[in-house]
Amino acid sequence: MDYESTCPHCRCPAMSFKDKLLTGPIASTHCQACGKPVGISMRSMWPLFVGIIPVAYFLGGKNGFLDFIVTAIGIGAVVWWIARLPIEPR
Ligand SMILES: [Zn+2]
Repeated sequence: MDYESTCPHCRCPAMSFKDKLLTGPIASTHCQACGKPVGISMRSMWPLFVGIIPVAYFLGGKNGFLDFIVTAIGIGAVVWWIARLPIEPR
């Protein structure tokens, strides 16, 4: 999967895709190449709130097949978005 992980300090890949998803926009981490503090851009955080909508829809629905599809698409869209968020210095 294609994703953005360029370190703002050294221009090397700063983290794996899995680490990027687990770090999220609030926490900060260290670049795996140069060790300087980096984090995902806070300005790009709003899709996480959009992602709550399909989850709430799923929990409030009858958990039918259509609910599952809507939820899967919503979560997939958020994961896709996080993968493309720029990494900024912390
Ligand atoms: Zn770096």
